[in-house]
Amino acid sequence: MKTELRVFSGSQFVGKPALVDGEFIPFLQKVNDFAAEQLLQVHVTSSARQQGVAVGNTIVPPATRSNHLTGHAIDMNVIHDGQLFNSSALKKSNHAKLPAQVRKFIQAIRDEKELRWGGDFGTQDPVHIDDGLNIRDALAWDMKFPIIQAALIALTRPEAEAGQARLLFLERPFISGPDVLAVQERLVALGFAMNPDGIFGAVTDRALTMFQEREGLIADGIVGSGTRKALKLT
Ligand SMILES: [Zn+2]
Repeated sequence: MKTELRVFSGSQFVGKPALVDGEFIPFLQKVNDFAAEQLLQVHVTSSARQQGVAVGNTIVPPATRSNHLTGHAIDMNVIHDGQLFNSSALKKSNHAKLPAQVRKFIQAIRDEKELRWGGDFGTQDPVHIDDGLNIRDALAWDMKFPIIQAALIALTRPEAEAGQARLLFLERPFISGPDVLAVQERLVALGFAMNPDGIFGAVTDRALTMFQEREGLIADGIVGSGTRKALKLT
């Protein structure tokens, strides 16, 4: 098995790209299957997170060993019938009021022995799902942390290594640079309204997603090699 930062796209996954460790993908596939069974969509709001980057890209071990830091967690909202269920809607005390499909989806995650639902944590975090790597295998967490963190830094660095174009997508802090500007200028040339400022914000994300839909690409809002080619940027 290999530690490697990857993008997960499932049939039921929408929102921000889920950036995760390759070894977490089978777990997300299960989450995707549970959502498909209940005809729900999973709107990802956060996945792998960068932390503790000091001057010279030294990776400082964090005080809190979150599974987000090794790409083994996502935060999500649930969409059922066009309605969004966020943190307050998903909390345990509200479950009686939830549509059966949403309740069954959360229950399926709780029943899956390798998955944890944040609503069961001491401090409730009902939008959080992980595989408990930090508890189950602390050594693996330690080993993965610098690899995933280095990959996250490389992803969002203006001049990505080995001459390979970095991935561009809606991320906070916003990704910016001449490569973002080039994407925006192509989108404007293709008829999308925006002010090309070299910053990948919400307007760029929406235009890009619409462009991808129009082109029959996966509408994930990520500029990767396929989208770059469709934009004629290669
Ligand atoms: Zn979380």
